Formats: sequence, structure tokens, C-alpha cells
Amino acid sequence: SVSSAPASAQTPMMAQYMELKAQAADCLLFYRMGDFFEMFFDDAKAAAATLDIALTSRGEHDGVPIPMCGVPVHSAEAYLARLIRAGHRVAIAEQTETPAEAKARGGSKALVARGIIRYVTPGTLTEDTLLDSRADNMLVAVGEAGGEIGIAAADISTGRFETMTVDAAALQAEIARLGASEIVIANGSALDVAGRQGAGAHGFDRGAFSSQRAEARLKAMFGVATLDGFGSFGRAELAAIGGLLSYLDHAGQGTLPHLAPPVHIAPGSHMAIDAATRESLEIVATMAGARQGSLLHAVDRTVTGAGARLLAADLAAPLLDGAAIEARLDLVHWLHDHGGQRDALRAVLRALPDIGRALGRVAMGRGSPRDLGQIRDGLGEARMLRERLARAPDRPPLLDRLLPALDGHGDLVDELTRALVPTPPTETASGGYIAEGYDAALDDLRRLGSDGRRAIALLEARYRDETGISALKIRHNAVLGYHVEVPARHGDTLMKEGSGFTHRQTLAGVVRFNSVDLHEQASRVMQAGAHALAAEAAHLEALIEQVLSRKEAITRAAQAIARLDVAASHAERAAEGGWARPRFVPDQRLEIVGGRHPVVEEALRREGQPFVANDCVLSGADRLWLVTGPNMGGKSTFLRQNALIVLLAQAGAFVPAQSATLSLVDRLFSRVGASDNLARGRSTFMVEMVETAAILSQATERSFVILDEVGRGTSTYDGLALAWAVVEAVHEVNRCRCLFATHYHELTRLAESLKALSLHNVRAREWKGDLVLLHEVADGPADRSYGIAVARLAGLPPAVLARAKDVLSRLEAGKARTGGIAAGLDDLPLFAASLAAQEEAAADPLREALSALDVDALSPREALDHLYRLKALA
Ligand code: ADP
Repeated sequence: SVSSAPASAQTPMMAQYMELKAQAADCLLFYRMGDFFEMFFDDAKAAAATLDIALTSRGEHDGVPIPMCGVPVHSAEAYLARLIRAGHRVAIAEQTETPAEAKARGGSKALVARGIIRYVTPGTLTEDTLLDSRADNMLVAVGEAGGEIGIAAADISTGRFETMTVDAAALQAEIARLGASEIVIANGSALDVAGRQGAGAHGFDRGAFSSQRAEARLKAMFGVATLDGFGSFGRAELAAIGGLLSYLDHAGQGTLPHLAPPVHIAPGSHMAIDAATRESLEIVATMAGARQGSLLHAVDRTVTGAGARLLAADLAAPLLDGAAIEARLDLVHWLHDHGGQRDALRAVLRALPDIGRALGRVAMGRGSPRDLGQIRDGLGEARMLRERLARAPDRPPLLDRLLPALDGHGDLVDELTRALVPTPPTETASGGYIAEGYDAALDDLRRLGSDGRRAIALLEARYRDETGISALKIRHNAVLGYHVEVPARHGDTLMKEGSGFTHRQTLAGVVRFNSVDLHEQASRVMQAGAHALAAEAAHLEALIEQVLSRKEAITRAAQAIARLDVAASHAERAAEGGWARPRFVPDQRLEIVGGRHPVVEEALRREGQPFVANDCVLSGADRLWLVTGPNMGGKSTFLRQNALIVLLAQAGAFVPAQSATLSLVDRLFSRVGASDNLARGRSTFMVEMVETAAILSQATERSFVILDEVGRGTSTYDGLALAWAVVEAVHEVNRCRCLFATHYHELTRLAESLKALSLHNVRAREWKGDLVLLHEVADGPADRSYGIAVARLAGLPPAVLARAKDVLSRLEAGKARTGGIAAGLDDLPLFAASLAAQEEAAADPLREALSALDVDALSPREALDHLYRLKALA
């Protein structure tokens, strides 16, 4: 609708706007006008609704007022953040020349030229205020070549850059691992992928996904003749890299962010965890997308943003390499046992600035003196950290591998320390960030400036004396510069011929003047100031260049700091909760003694409730546990805690258990029966079966699978039959370790035929008519189903409970007679009839009195009394 108007009907400004809007395509266009970014037409409507700001109008288009809204430039970041979070993408059109330049170019009526300088999208943010300091912000590009699929992923705020080749089945899992904020695919691609919170992929120029161009580009970027040093990239991977780099070019309109050399992730280097499993285990976020309530939140004791980001990445990608896991565990163990070292380390880390993100901004050309100050402080502290740790006894090998990265920046730190003031500002416009004594010429300029300012102050005193006007002031503003100002009533005095003052401006209350002396002093001050600013800017540029010349080494230091923080976090968490170091063995064992669920335990502790620790002992000979027991008995919790312990262990952390003896798990699967997820409105029985099918086709003898009430999403017979068949297949074909929770009591019969399957139950007791859930996992099948008792706990009306008991007893009787579940229901009276019978019973005083009797509590004498009374009622 926007571009349909004939150009002749538009003002030149609207014509310019339309042209830019056409370039911006599906983005909202922020159109710079003075101190505002304005939006028009549908953009204005969408933005006003999202931001809850006033929608106004400006001029007309096709005879209709043009909707408009605007945000101030100085607070644009906050508005941008909200628009991006609401799923919008924003194109920023800035003035690319000054009004004076426009005038010189095209006369007094010329429109200032504008151009799109940047696209702001979820995956291309670098502003501190728009980013979560504790989460990576991954932009993912997916490329295809020769029947393969490649992924290139980057966090441009830190330079993290990874690539891999995947098959179609693993694509979504990898994207889930990366927690993609934004996904880019070639226009017209048939690939079906979704990012965080289901955000869809975004189509981009197909030609950009070229493997050849990408290879040349990478070589140029990193100044290498061959990419072999970084790993061997498949063609699809290179195509993805091509798409990623072009998209970044487009977003930054030419300024490419700093990226570390790409890390090629070999297939099988991580535990495979598909997207459904990630969601169901709530590893880095809950199903609702919150951090609180996730595994990450329950274990996170990191004290730096970089540490928190690395911890999330670690938990998303547990290792398969035993040696690498042990190396991490050794470091955690050392920090666990050396509490003093740990405390000291964490105290230093807590005060460390985020070097990685500061470097990211510097590399993007948006670096401020404050960023350099952060890099200076961070690297300076890192150097001291190294000195301290290098003296510590019995250092684990990983620590010794990390330490060198913390040092080697001494000269840069020294230089930045000499060059910058202690707390440099983010703004450069008013200078003052280069320290005194760094540059003698700059010091001279500053002295000239302050001498001039002092001279102006003296001048003010002199003028007051000479004119006798004590209210006379010398002021400064942007339009007039320095000037003399007197109250209006004294204006005439200075207007007089020969007074030495020239009139500049008359306002309501004051009159302003200039003078020759003032002008002279003012221009000295101004000149010195301008030269000083220029000198500072030149130093800033040189310092930035020095920093960028060693950005790889600085990135390594930032990574080492993050690794130390993660290890200290695991050690701290373990010490806090009495967690144990997992032990790895080669056979198919999974032996967890006294295991706990870190999230449930924490939630219970807040309510003052204890958590009941449970054992899980699987082996090749007993690898499938069928867990039965009442709802709310703790089945899901038990299943999940064991999966989480496996995951934590392979991420290199201590685990919430008394002991854990594990063998490496190649794939982890978790599935929850459909009805548990119905609230989310997308899991249907179909999805449940598709996801279960994936397990049956992918789980190996080294995998660990938890299945929670699978089969529940359909009718009893279907569900039971499917659950039965799934258990058999897992046992006979996949032969993986598996915990299977079910309320189908019938499944316990499988124990007779399946050798490596054993029966377990979460214990419960009925006590004085109430159900007590013990949350204890015991051997053997559940003795009975406690459904009705659970329903009473839940507050179902007594009439319904009584009816359910009735139905149950007939079902059981019928089954005993004929073997069919529903056989007993033929002679079941109608619900209304049974309700009437119950009401009748309730209305019967004799029955009431009878049921109120506590026979055990009566003496023989009292019993006789009651009998007489009952007789009277009859
Ligand atoms: P189920 O899967 O058998 O329906 P859940 O695992 O969902 O049961 O557990 C229900 C509730 O019981 C949990 O929210 C928790 O409050 C409590 N619970 C579960 N396991 C334990 C435990 N080991 N110790 C203490 N409370 C537990």
C-alpha cells in the first residue's frame, strides 16, 4: 500500500522515505529526523502498539493522513530492545550528510541524504543493553551442498564462531544446542528449522550461500593460504559460512564484526541430545522459556557473564571424550578441595569486566574508551590471577594449560594504564579520557584551554568592575559560544557607543554581547579544546588498533577466564550441596547412589521440605527399569534426576548424588507422554509417537533413555499396547539403558519375558484413609494403584470419589471373571442413580450415626449404649 502512490504526489521527503522503506523490506524503518527516529504508515502502527507510545500523523498520502510515531535518538536502544524482543527487525536510516553539506550540494531546499546504516535483528545485536550478559546470542546460518547440510553459528558480541556438518535428522538438535536467536537459510530452501521459542528461519539471498566464495573470504579474513589449520570444512559448511558472513555484511552494511577463527565441530564430539529431550529436561530454560527452574539455574554459581555463557554452552553440549571430561573434573576437584584458592579466585573473577564483549564492541567499530578501560582492567587482573595460581601446589593439568593465556599482555596493559584515565567514559564527544602525562602536547593544549578559561573568569571580574554591573556574567552556549550577559535593565549601559561591547542577542530577561578581548580569549580556548579533542581521538584510534592487533590472544584470555569461572562454579555448587565427583568405567554401567534432582530439591528446600534421595543401578544385565506407582509419587522426578546426573557428569561437573559410577552415554533421550504436555497446545499423540520413533531408530547400547508415561496420549488399549511394544523394542533391539515410568500395571508382566528388565515402584502408603507418598524408589511392582486416593488428595468431591470406587470394584470383578477390562461395566447403574443412592444414604440418620462410630475406641459398655441408640433410630 505504501509504494502505490504516484511519485509526483509525494513530498521529496516521502519519496526518499519510500525508497528506503523498499530497501528495508520486512523490517521496521527507523527514519532519522533531527533528534528522533520516526516511523510511518504500518510501521508506525506496529511500533506504537508494541511500544505503547502515541500514534500521531503527519501530512497526507493519497488524501489520507500518514500515521506516524517516533522515539528519541538518545533513548532509542531501549525501544529497539522491546521491538526486537517482540519479534520485529529494524532498519536504521541515518542522515549521511550534514544540513550544510546538503545545502552546498543542492541549494537551500535540498533534502539531507539518508541511508540505511544498519539492520538490527535478534542475531546481530552487540549493544550491552540489548544483550543478556549471561547468555550467548547465536546467529545461525544453514547451508546445503551436495546433499549435505552445513551449519555456521556465531555470537558477534564475543566472536564465538562454530561450524559443523549434520544430517537432516540432527539439524534441529544442533540448532537447539546452539539456542539460536536467529536462523538464516537460503531463499527457497525446503529445510524446516525453528529457533528459540519457535522463531522461524529467515530467508536470505541464495547466491550468498556459495562455498567457493566463502572459502576465499575466510582465507582473506584470517590471512591464511589454507583453512586446514582450522579443521576440515565440508562444502555445505562453507556454504553456511558464506550465508552467515553475507548476512552479517548486510546487517552491518559493510562493517563486519570480529569473529574468532571458525571452530569445526566434528560429528560425534558431543552427546547427542535432540530438541524434544532438551525441552523436556529443561536444561538451559524451562518449557515456558524461563531460566529460573532450569538445570542451568540450579547449578549456576558463576560470577562472570562469560562464565555463565560458557556454562550454558557446556550443559548444552556434554562431552564424549573421556580424557577431556576427566581434565575438567580434575580442575573442579582441585578447586573443590582447595576452598581458599576457590574463594580467592571467585573474588577476583567477580570484579572482572567482560573482556570478550568489550572486545566485540571495539572490533565492531563501536568501541568506547570505557571498553578499552575494561580490557585494561580485565587483562591486568588476569595477569595477577596467573601469578597467584602459578604458585599454588598440585595444580591439575588443565589449570596449567589455561594459565599462559592469562598473561602476555603486560605491555598492552601498561600502555592502556598510562594512556587512559582510571574510569574512562563511554562518550568521546567531550574528551577527557586520555590521562594526563601520556602526551606532553595534549597536556599543553589542555593547559592552554584552562589558562584561557581562567583568563575569561578574570575578564568577567574586570567587566563587572568597569561597568559596575555585579550581575554581569560570561556564559557559553552552542549557538553564540562565549558571550557577556547582563539583565535586560542593564542592556542600555553596554549598548552605548564606545562601551567596547557588540550586541548579539536580546531575550526577554537578558541581553547578550560580545567583546574583542572575550572573542580573543574564547577562540584560544576553543582552538585548544578542538585540538585536544582531535589529539585524544587520534590516541584512541591508535590504542584500538593495538588492541585489535592482538584480538585472538585477548579472546583466549577471555576464554580461559570463563573456563576458570565455570570450574569454580561447579566446585562451589558441589561444596554447597555435598555433591560427588562422577567416576567413569568402560562397561555399560549407570550406578547412582543417593541421587537427587537439583531443581526439585531446591524448590522443596524453599518450602522447608526434605528431598528423598534414590538409587538407580543399571547395568548390561539389568538395563531397563520399569517404574510404577501412584501419580505424584515421584516417578518423573526420579527419571529426570538420573538423566540430569548423566548430563552434568559428561559436562565435567560434580553431581547431586552420594556416588555415581557411569559409562559414557552417546545419546540421551527423554520423552514425556502426550497428556503431560497438552497444556502447551502442541504435543499431540502424533508428536509423542514421532518422537518415540526417533528413539527406537537412534538409541544405541551406549545411549540412555527415559520414557515417562509414553502411550498415555491415546485410549487405554492402544496406549497399553504401544507402551508394551516400545518396551520390548528398547529391550530387544536398542539394548540401551532405559527408565520407563508407567501407570499401566499390566506392563509388569513383561518382567517374566524380558531378562534385562526389572520392576521398581515409588512407594506409597495409605494411612488412616489418607495417601502418604514416600517418594522412595523400591524394588518390585507397585502393590496397587492409588489413583482414587490421589484424586482425594486433589480434592475431588466425595460423591465422585465414591462413584469411582464403585466403578473400580466392578471393573476388577469383571476382569477377574472374564479377563476383559470393561466386562464388569455392563451391570453398572447410571451415574445419576448412584448419586441418588449416595444422597439417600447421606440423608439417612441411622447410616450417618453408624458411620460416625469409631468402634475401636469404644468400651463394651459404650458399645451397648450405642446399640440402644441405633435401635431407636431404626
Ligand atoms: P509422578 O511422575 O510420579 O507423577 P513427580 O515426579 O511429578 O511424580 O513428583 C510429584 C511431586 O512429588 C514433585 O513435584 C515433588 O514435589 C515431589 N517429589 C518427587 N520426588 C521426590 C523426592 N524424591 N523427594 C521428595 N519429594 C519428591
